[in-house]
Amino acid sequence: MLCSASRGIRKYRKAPDHQEEIMPFTGTVMVRNLRRGPTVFDNPEDSRKYFVWGGKDSPDGSDVKPIDAKIVNTPEFTAAINRGIFEVIDTHTAQESLAQQLAEYEKRRNAKEEKTSEAIDRDSNRSIDSGTCLGPADRGNGNCGQVVPVSEDEPPLCTKHKHLAPQFVSSEEWVDSRKVVSWSRVSIDR
Ligand SMILES: [Zn+2]
Repeated sequence: MLCSASRGIRKYRKAPDHQEEIMPFTGTVMVRNLRRGPTVFDNPEDSRKYFVWGGKDSPDGSDVKPIDAKIVNTPEFTAAINRGIFEVIDTHTAQESLAQQLAEYEKRRNAKEEKTSEAIDRDSNRSIDSGTCLGPADRGNGNCGQVVPVSEDEPPLCTKHKHLAPQFVSSEEWVDSRKVVSWSRVSIDR
């Protein structure tokens, strides 16, 4: 009885090492961080790149990451697994973590969208900006050029050229989630 118990323990202890030696991982492998805190692993194949895991049982599921088998099969990663820093888990086991990560990602994306629309609202409320008058220059070609306050609703025109406003049309475009309004003159009075 004692004999069979010790044999069982030996078998249990040997199994992980044995498995890693004879079966290199293929494809993408789900790796869980077993450390309590965030863990960084430098990519042995590219010193500029590294992987970051959240601490064990992170509520956002960041303790599990899909890693290319090429990385997991390196001696450096194998050593980290043997030291109990990482554990390779099957996709089924990883599913909960992945679901948490997806939920977290959605939450962040929604928060970002809300922030962006807030920024847009602020921009459209800020009606006063400065530009130069688009009225005709006193002499020759070109614009009047006098510095005037501008808003989204009216073309930039000085008091002298204000009456030309109906000749201008606006067009809008988005640059870095900021609305840019440009005006062009569609009719020329002579
Ligand atoms: Zn002007």
